[in-house]
Amino acid sequence: MAVILCSWGDVVEGGTEEALTLASQFSAAAGVDLDWVVVGGMAAAAQELAERYGVAHLDTIADAKLENYGPDALVAAFAQYCEQYKPQTIFFNQTAPARLIAPRLAGRLGIPVVANGIGLELDGGTLKVTATAFGGDTHVLYELAEPVNIVSLVTTAIDAEPAAQASSPQRRDVSVDLGAVEERLKVTSAASSTGPRLEDADIIVAGGRGLGSPDNYNTLIKGLAEALGGMHGGSRVIVDEGWIDSTHQVGLTGKITRPGLYLAAGISGASQHMAGCSAAKTIVAINKDKDASIYRYARYGIVADCLEVLPELIKAAKA
Ligand SMILES: Cc1cc2nc3c(=O)[nH]c(=O)nc-3n(C[C@H](O)[C@H](O)[C@H](O)COP(=O)(O)OP(=O)(O)OC[C@H]3O[C@@H](n4cnc5c(N)ncnc54)[C@H](O)[C@@H]3O)c2cc1C
Repeated sequence: MAVILCSWGDVVEGGTEEALTLASQFSAAAGVDLDWVVVGGMAAAAQELAERYGVAHLDTIADAKLENYGPDALVAAFAQYCEQYKPQTIFFNQTAPARLIAPRLAGRLGIPVVANGIGLELDGGTLKVTATAFGGDTHVLYELAEPVNIVSLVTTAIDAEPAAQASSPQRRDVSVDLGAVEERLKVTSAASSTGPRLEDADIIVAGGRGLGSPDNYNTLIKGLAEALGGMHGGSRVIVDEGWIDSTHQVGLTGKITRPGLYLAAGISGASQHMAGCSAAKTIVAINKDKDASIYRYARYGIVADCLEVLPELIKAAKA
């Protein structure tokens, strides 16, 4: 019996080390091995990480059908792996594609799945998973008495911490038969983004509808972000309005961030927005409505017109 982390892709995705941290701590508490199943080009980079996080087996799956992201092939590959090695808990780093894979794998294996996991505890034979719900507003505790489960981990609130003891992971090449798999989802053009990711930014200056116009966003939000050496983001409303593209959207259906400083201007603080920034160390809000929800989360608040305050902040940041 082992617990496993499932990963894929050409590069090690952000959040992988944090997922390895939680999986490694859990495997130590459960007294079982942590194995890491990797698919794709990331396998080469995985070795060093596997050693640091105390992985017992680094299992690689290679097949022509797995060379490009294909959910049907991935689900089939992981299902065949689980049938061969019979892990007791199957972890995913909850990226957007993992949201598609984890529930389908659970359906294929006929086992429970918990999404949005942020904490794990083993109580006798029961796995207790703390997860976020209702857009991050609420924490819920799932008690899973089934012997095998899938947990998809939200890693933004976890600090990466290598295992107390490094390991010498044993490499295993795992064969799967994907001959019968036909991809039902065709990616006609993949979204691509270059440069730093909002999820990794330490300073985010975010704007919402209260800015009034895309010009104000461009001058004031981007201007302050640049002056502070941070990144700019925004609410879904302004993405829907076409002021910014969706790679800058913070929230439940956007990026889940955890910066040191999150400065929100003209944002009301809807729960779906806060799901993407409430883990920030310090939230500063500028909103002219003193009763705006954002003030429930903000450490510092400026009840004022952001069109007047932001230029002053830019001046101060540049001074
Ligand atoms: C399923 C679902 C998923 C969603 N996912 C997301 C998501 O991922 N991210 C997200 O952001 N939203 C998401 N939403 C939308 C969310 O519910 C809110 O509608 C949205 O966050 C509101 O954006 P806002 O704060 O920019 O606008 P508003 O709610 O309109 O707030 C504007 C704020 O600006 C203030 N204001 C106005 N003028 C000024 C001024 N001059 N100076 C200072 N303050 C001013 C107002 O007082 C107000 O509080 C989702 C909704 C649903 C149903």
